[in-house]
Amino acid sequence: MGGKALIQPAQILKKYFGYDSFREGQELLIQGILEGKDVLGIMPTGAGKSVCYQIPALMLPGITVVISPLISLMKDQVRALNEAGVHAAYINSSLTESQISKALYNARCGQYKIMYVAPERLESSLFRDFAMHTDISMITVDEAHCISQWGQDFRPSYLNILNLIHALPRRPVISAFTATATTKVKEDIISVLGLVNPKVLITGFDRKNLYFEVKESKKKDAALLNYLNRHAEESGIIYCATRKNVDAVFELLVKKGYPVAKYHAGMGSEERKKNQDDFIYDNKPLIVATNAFGMGIDKSNVRFVIHYNMPQSMENYYQEAGRAGRDGEKADCILLYSPQDVVINQFLIDSKEVRAELDDREAYALRERDVLKLRQMANYCMSRECLREYILRYFGEEVKGGCGNCSNCLGDFEEKDITKECIHIINCVMETRQRFGINMIISILRGEKNAKLLSYQFERLDSYGKEKGANKDYLKQIIQQMIVESIARTTEDQYPILKLTKEAEGFLWGEKQLFMKVKKASGPVEQKASKKRTGAGSGNAVNMHTADSLERTGLFEKLRQLRLEIAREEHMPPYIIFSDKTLVDMCARLPETKEEMLSVLGVGEVKYQKYGERFLEVLQRERE
Ligand code: ADP
Ligand code: ZN
Repeated sequence: MGGKALIQPAQILKKYFGYDSFREGQELLIQGILEGKDVLGIMPTGAGKSVCYQIPALMLPGITVVISPLISLMKDQVRALNEAGVHAAYINSSLTESQISKALYNARCGQYKIMYVAPERLESSLFRDFAMHTDISMITVDEAHCISQWGQDFRPSYLNILNLIHALPRRPVISAFTATATTKVKEDIISVLGLVNPKVLITGFDRKNLYFEVKESKKKDAALLNYLNRHAEESGIIYCATRKNVDAVFELLVKKGYPVAKYHAGMGSEERKKNQDDFIYDNKPLIVATNAFGMGIDKSNVRFVIHYNMPQSMENYYQEAGRAGRDGEKADCILLYSPQDVVINQFLIDSKEVRAELDDREAYALRERDVLKLRQMANYCMSRECLREYILRYFGEEVKGGCGNCSNCLGDFEEKDITKECIHIINCVMETRQRFGINMIISILRGEKNAKLLSYQFERLDSYGKEKGANKDYLKQIIQQMIVESIARTTEDQYPILKLTKEAEGFLWGEKQLFMKVKKASGPVEQKASKKRTGAGSGNAVNMHTADSLERTGLFEKLRQLRLEIAREEHMPPYIIFSDKTLVDMCARLPETKEEMLSVLGVGEVKYQKYGERFLEVLQRERE
């Protein structure tokens, strides 16, 4: 960009990335860097961290070195940058030594503005030699939580970053980015990386474009097929708890003729790679996978993430669900829940191998933590409150008022007063002296005559038959609700016993009431929400036009076909050519000229040069 008049960050955003305005926080961080300050950006996945360092990288005189732990992501980023007309390269273990030498040589000659490096490479003499003799303007540490022992995935090789910074002839600006917001991690990043008076920016963890739903169902296959049936052609991930589940769901979908891939750790690496690529390149827009899948996958047009089983923690859930809608367009996150999921996960926790370096106490503490996390996850599934609020509160944000974009807010549920049943249960537990499990309590209340019950002469209790005719599952659900509200708890024994807490007292004095969310007799919630999805949203031009109108014209489909055609020609994932959001905006604006095309979200000059006219042609044909 040379010595011309000062170019502003916003112009670069437009020219290279095709966006009209910055998102929350981006400009602040970019300004900070340009003023020569260290920065730390803490933003959730999909918030747009990359442009925060890519734009300054284009404006600073020397090269920017980006340290990133995820090889697949690196390749993707570099590909996307080159597509946008930014010269970039990467160095990691997927390249040969001579390829690395060549890239470093080019970098030294000033060919690239940005270079991605895996942390293991920083110590190599080739790289060191390059670093000593090149003008490095900025070092960017992506996934910066990896430097913290408190982070989810601590990587010792991240400590090499410090050595590198100390060894450089001149200290460059340091910018660090992560999606992990806990205080401990934040402090670690600042102190371990030695950030000097950094500008720290934390933006909200809310992902407004995601619709959250919990669907309690014992017929998960039917629920899944029903959803897929109404979302043909869209790309989505279906997460299962175990490999066995993956295989079964995969078979089911193949049988029904869906273009689906699968992924779990029990498959060979070749097969995994192939299936992953099939998904990324939209050859097979659906994938069924365990949680082994997804690290470093940056497919922006994932329209839904369905959890066939409940995951083990809210952290896992939000990370996995968060792979939907990275492009900012509406997307669904649906969790199919059945009480059996708690049992499966409890089993998975119990059978986890104890790490060798832990002593008994530490192992116990770790297990306790897992059990607590599992309980919080189960509470999410049973909660009556706004699901988004539940998530954000879990991650430390205080919110109120309901989001209007989750299955609880859109409520096909009604609140039922279950105070009377609750009191019956409490009385029954007291009468049997808190010595029995849930099933016995239910049998007594329903007035059953099984041998065990009779052997204790429980048919003589006051509570006997107090809920005659009540459905077993319904009573179970009420007890679950009592556990969620901490009125009762179960012990951790092999045969868990139902106990009361202090909270139970208030019910006996008639001071308290209990409510439970129960489903109204109507169709699946998602259907209604899905219609909403086409209209609701943050109110920008893109959200006003979606599925409904597009389906009618079929234009979106045609643009998508063209994108797929180009992707195949160029051996690129389609979303690198243009995101779904860009195609939707094209349908909304129906550009006829170059200028109009450049005003479409995500169409920058370089992309226009490459593909603009072909898309204009399709639009033209549509008008004729
Ligand atoms: P993160 O690294 O925070 O997970 P990315 O940098 O991958 O997120 O950005 C997510 C998506 O948002 C990308 O498709 C990116 O092009 C898009 N994006 C980033 N900044 C903007 C912006 N200012 N306006 C519109 N889209 C943006
Ligand atoms: Zn809500």
